[in-house]
Amino acid sequence: MSDTKKIGLMGGTFDPIHYGHLVLAEQVRSNLDLDAIYFVPSGRPPHKDGNKITDKNLRLAMVKLAIADNEYFKIFDYELKKEEKTFTVDTVKAFKDMIDSKAVLYFITGADQLMKIESWKEYEKLFEEIIFVGASRPGNDDVQLIQQIHYLKDNYHARILHVEVPALAISSTDIRNRIREGNSIKYLLPDRVEQFIIENKLYK
Ligand code: ATP
Ligand code: MG
Repeated sequence: MSDTKKIGLMGGTFDPIHYGHLVLAEQVRSNLDLDAIYFVPSGRPPHKDGNKITDKNLRLAMVKLAIADNEYFKIFDYELKKEEKTFTVDTVKAFKDMIDSKAVLYFITGADQLMKIESWKEYEKLFEEIIFVGASRPGNDDVQLIQQIHYLKDNYHARILHVEVPALAISSTDIRNRIREGNSIKYLLPDRVEQFIIENKLYK
């Protein structure tokens, strides 16, 4: 028995958080026997148009509501506190500074992110620092994902695990569109998050 902790990090815009995120995080946690998973809401994501993103405090509030009933789920709000754009490599460094132990870190990401990982800042350094956990995502080709994992392992000695999660074709974009079009979002995200969206008249 080793007492080195295994910790997962899950970055995202979470605009809003939904069951795709939660199922992925929980499946990875139980599959890899992680001690905790930290959700890392992005401030101004490098890959997204910052103007169209919901206020960070509202996105944070929704993440808090969504994870309240899971004792393993926590929040690392480093990126939200930064005025400037943040990159995962900096976030990982800040996280390592925050926890004093020498935990093994896992970065959980859906296939769409893993396919474009070579556009991330200092991704080669990231491969040295953390183990990636890639999950299939509906709309992404699994064959391509597995090819990409082999490619990254061969070229950069990346450590990447492929975890099978039940496919949920849920995305924040789709949820925002449904709200705009007056369609139901029930059962796509936790009730408490749905209530929060209604109360704050989000995504109208
Ligand atoms: P948007 O449509 O606004 O991009 P999103 O649903 O993709 O939102 P993000 O916050 O961009 O959510 O995603 C955070 C992480 O969760 C990413 O690594 C993404 O690939 C992963 N993810 C999101 N939804 C799913 C899903 N249904 N299945 C697997 N992975 C998912
Ligand atoms: Mg996305």
